Amino acid sequence: MTTATTAPPTTVPHVIGGVRTTGDGRTSPVFNPATGRQTGAVALASAELVHEAARVAREAQRGWRDTGLARRQQIMFRLREIISARAEDLARLITAEHGKTVADALGEVARGLENVEFCTGLMHHLKGDHSEQVASGLDVHQLRQPVGVVACITPFNFPAMVPLWMVTTAIAAGNAVILKPSERDPSAAVWLADAFREAGVPDGVLNVVHGDKEAVDAILDDPIIRAVSFVGSTPVARHVYTRAAAAGKRVQALGGAKNHMIVMPDADLEAAADAAVSAAYGSAGERCMAVSVVVAVGAVGDALVERIARRLPGLVVGDGADPTTEMGPLITREALERVTGFVAGAEGEGADLVVDGRRPAGDEGFFIGPSLVDRVTPGMRVYDEEIFGPVLSVVRVRDYDEAVALINASRYANGTAVFTRDGKTARQFGYDIEVGMVGVNVPIPVPVGAYSFGGWKESLFGDTHMYGPEAFSFYTRRKVITTRWPEASESQISLGFPTH
Ligand code: NAD
Repeated sequence: MTTATTAPPTTVPHVIGGVRTTGDGRTSPVFNPATGRQTGAVALASAELVHEAARVAREAQRGWRDTGLARRQQIMFRLREIISARAEDLARLITAEHGKTVADALGEVARGLENVEFCTGLMHHLKGDHSEQVASGLDVHQLRQPVGVVACITPFNFPAMVPLWMVTTAIAAGNAVILKPSERDPSAAVWLADAFREAGVPDGVLNVVHGDKEAVDAILDDPIIRAVSFVGSTPVARHVYTRAAAAGKRVQALGGAKNHMIVMPDADLEAAADAAVSAAYGSAGERCMAVSVVVAVGAVGDALVERIARRLPGLVVGDGADPTTEMGPLITREALERVTGFVAGAEGEGADLVVDGRRPAGDEGFFIGPSLVDRVTPGMRVYDEEIFGPVLSVVRVRDYDEAVALINASRYANGTAVFTRDGKTARQFGYDIEVGMVGVNVPIPVPVGAYSFGGWKESLFGDTHMYGPEAFSFYTRRKVITTRWPEASESQISLGFPTH
């Protein structure tokens, strides 16, 4: 029995058919973002290795599909116990490669576990339908059968939660999986593969294949792989959706975000400022549901900006492994340079840089403090582009209608929130807004595990959302069986089209 550990190996290996391998030698460096130092490397799969993993998964899926639902449920319960018991180990591993605080990583693991908990009810989620006597002596029943081999391609920002969104449901539904995690923080995926194995998932049912564009494109083209779940940036999501769909696969590809939080004139401004700071700067803004734009409605602008700005000097920026840290570093030096560029360019675009989070040279890690940019308008880069860092923009608008029009004009539509004390405004906002996930006085409205997660527009390419009931639809195919048990004497030839 393999035991999950916190120490990342020198080269993080693929796991194919239960065997660890570093493949043909191509690797990519892995860093601790808090120190800026390389801590290891990750193997990068060739196209041939991806195809080999698909063959292994196809073989394993045949046996897994035959495994009874009661047994699969028991495995899900055991998986929940294993991950919960060692959540701290997994959280520390995430912090060491991603940089987020251990508390935040524990939150990620807890939200991932919600999906395991939902899947303990797989017997219920995989139920079909039956109609008796649709015509004389004729019955119809509908089944849900696994798709076969599916691929799950995940981003760096939730190295445990997003794999758990996808892999858990896919396996619960009887599929075999090829998980292709982010090459920037790859160890959590291997940790999870160990946990699934220990819980009783047979070798080959969950395979971890690391890699870059070469591996992803091989997945998109592989004829054995029947469905692809993807989460990442919008340009890559579009590429994955287009290429996988052209190859005849079922695809769901979640992309980037630019989430707006409206603050109405009647809102509790202290609570709204707390919510904005928590949602904009938590995990250094590297959450797809982070608030990146506050929309100040009517006259609240000055009071709100003052309240947000007042809170920022108190935020403790540092190594996520230090329990006093509230905000860790960014994922890479390139990300740091990119985010710094948005802060540096804001004033030149005509915005007010109220709080400048740039730090004096000397940090070894990839650190930047929280920044606040006021009087931002559409057309500025800081507004139009996804920054994915701790930079909060404030857009001032005259009224509710202008706020709604602003949000509905965005090409992204992942999450949004309204802060108000007025129920009618909140209800109207839910009705008017063209965004997939909406919060009322809730800044990060990530649905609980019994619902499904997904944005609209360029935040999601495809038809189904992640986890919850929609995931069981995505990872299964429906089959309808029409049955008659006639007496031999009733048999006759009829060339007419069957009607009931
Ligand atoms: P990314 O798009 O760079 O990478 C995502 C995955 O795609 C990784 O596994 C990566 O190896 C692979 N990849 C990268 N470039 C590729 C290419 N050119 N061709 C093929 N594959 C490629 O995203 P990221 O930086 O890891 O994650 C951050 C992004 O993910 C942000 O845009 C964020 O908004 C988004 N995200 C969205 C959601 C959501 O629910 N909509 C959730 C989490 C993250």
